[in-house]
Amino acid sequence: MCGNCCHDLRLPLTVDEATAWIERGGQVQVLCEALPWLEEPGANDLQAQHKRKRSFAATSGTLPARVIVVLAGTFAGPCPNLGPDMRCGIYEDRPLVCRIYPAEINPFVPLVPSHKGCPPEAWAPSTPYVRHGTIVDAALRDLIARSRSADEREAPLKREVCAALGIDRAAVSNEGFVAHTPQAAELHAALKQARASADLPDDARTETSWSFVSNQRKMVDVLVSVGAQGEFVDAASESPPAAYEYLGFLAPSA
Ligand code: SF4
Repeated sequence: MCGNCCHDLRLPLTVDEATAWIERGGQVQVLCEALPWLEEPGANDLQAQHKRKRSFAATSGTLPARVIVVLAGTFAGPCPNLGPDMRCGIYEDRPLVCRIYPAEINPFVPLVPSHKGCPPEAWAPSTPYVRHGTIVDAALRDLIARSRSADEREAPLKREVCAALGIDRAAVSNEGFVAHTPQAAELHAALKQARASADLPDDARTETSWSFVSNQRKMVDVLVSVGAQGEFVDAASESPPAAYEYLGFLAPSA
């Protein structure tokens, strides 16, 4: 009831949640990251296996790649569903990620209370939230499993959404995201269409050549030198590209 976690967010949504978010008048962005994919990871490379499951195969020029897409309900200030009394106006229908917070969905991100917006008393009930690194509440563990499963299952649908909207730029994985902001009606139609064509065979699907976007000049040069399409984005430029927003984790390097 503090409402701290309901402000200034890009909220990861499933395909159906994103559709409903738009229908309620909210904004959804398409966040893209990609990584070169020269060979399949070994069974013990758990981080790479995790990325593989939630991504789809693509190419960038002649380079094999995989692309991870997140549909994000985006708002500055309070969530459009947050009431003045700090109650969620869609509590029964709120997205999975809202039910899971403050737990982490990514299995490689540890839960650190000081990184969360929760007030101190939220961490002081008689039953611990986490015991020996495991979430105590079985229902919450089930929600996390559902969220991860949707993330994996919906990667091909997101590929279709991007193809329908002409989205073909992604940040280099671990450097940031490229945030695309399609028109709500167009994104809504693409989400519906992707859901309807979920059973199409792979060879009936659209092939897109993706461009890697980076604010690290050396990274762009290396990718281009091995056959990829690369695009340097200069945050200091007076005319940044209008087609997307670059959300970089690293300081720009020319
Ligand atoms: S949908 Fe509800 S719980 Fe989720 S951020 Fe908005 S107000 Fe908070």
